[in-house]
Amino acid sequence: MLSLRGMGGLIVQKYGGSSVANADLIKNVARRIAGVHESGTRVVGVVSAMGDTTDDLIALAKQVTADPNDREMALLWSTGEVVTAALTSMSLHAMGYEAVALTGFQAGIRTNALHTKAQIVDIDPVRIRRELERGAIPIVAGFQGWTDDLDITVLGRGASDTTAVALAVALRADRCEILKDVDGVFTADPRLVPQARKLDVISYEEMLELARAGSQVLHPRATELGEAYGVPIVVRSSFHEAPGTTIVRGDQMPMEGRRRVRAIAHDLDVGRITIGGVPDRPGIAYAVFHPLEEAALNVDVIVQNVSHDNVTDISFTVGRADLDKAIRLLRPVAQEMGAREVSSSDRLAKISVVGSGLAANPGYAAKMFGTLADAGINIVSITTSEIRITCLIDEAHVPPAARALHQSFQLDE
Ligand code: ASP
Ligand code: MG
Repeated sequence: MLSLRGMGGLIVQKYGGSSVANADLIKNVARRIAGVHESGTRVVGVVSAMGDTTDDLIALAKQVTADPNDREMALLWSTGEVVTAALTSMSLHAMGYEAVALTGFQAGIRTNALHTKAQIVDIDPVRIRRELERGAIPIVAGFQGWTDDLDITVLGRGASDTTAVALAVALRADRCEILKDVDGVFTADPRLVPQARKLDVISYEEMLELARAGSQVLHPRATELGEAYGVPIVVRSSFHEAPGTTIVRGDQMPMEGRRRVRAIAHDLDVGRITIGGVPDRPGIAYAVFHPLEEAALNVDVIVQNVSHDNVTDISFTVGRADLDKAIRLLRPVAQEMGAREVSSSDRLAKISVVGSGLAANPGYAAKMFGTLADAGINIVSITTSEIRITCLIDEAHVPPAARALHQSFQLDE
């Protein structure tokens, strides 16, 4: 296989939806991509759909049917990125550059058949290589691929990042840059916490936990791919040239950064389901979660209470868009097992602290709960991982919770 490493290097640059939201912004992106090309570094562009296009397409489908089929949804969604790729390439032509817009299919991105949440099976970027060899700039429509049956698929919401990192892996690029309307990864969402600071470096592991905790800076699957294949990822602004945040392996982190809470994340996309009065016997959790897994619904914050008189409650969260579907799947299951009720809430949110030192230090959990208590915020449930503590709280409490935690974990300084 021909390697494109060396010779001035190769980078993959991905531009997000708000960076390509109108014609002027697309011209700006074309200028930036041209700038990299001019510097002697080969560049592959990956673009998202313009602005809120994907949301608009979803709303449009809902006007036609309450239950759009996944295959057609994927085809519909894939059009947004194709529009941006074509316009970006045309804009490069207008500036005098050789460029070629490619769909996911033309870029050789083969996926499985989970149409709207497809996973990449492999990438054969022959066409991209050919274009690079003749000195052209490939502009790839993010977020999409194709199956053995020649169906067009999409990789799940926000997954143009995944396209970019996967292409960087397949092309053995020197790095993958994710260019956005934010300057990098912050200690908290600056819209909620004015004191939030940009981090210069963060580990893949911390980035992954931040994404799982609701940070939308970088798609979790993109982070996982970057870590698995050791591709350096840089998150930076598409509007100016500041260096942004570099995502590196944990052992390459500066000593100081390793042992503390690094950031606060929040997630409003939380739908909670509780199955009340479940008989406490073997196989019940499997009966509940198996159908959700089969439907590829992401389940999180699972809590099962200690049982009284052999009856218990099971609670968990899903994305709000999946709430109705999950309830539909669970009603018959709950009825069959003789559960009392299935109830739900779409008013809860997750607030999390993330940092590599958490597992080793129980003081962090106490500090988090104490901070929320002092702020008068009730915790509905709690989950932890090695490097994350997440509390489910009322969504209205997210801004004060984020500010209080940012301060008590000394991220303000
Ligand atoms: N346009 C898709 C979405 O909004 C993919 C992306 O932007 O990364 O989910
Ligand atoms: Mg988008």
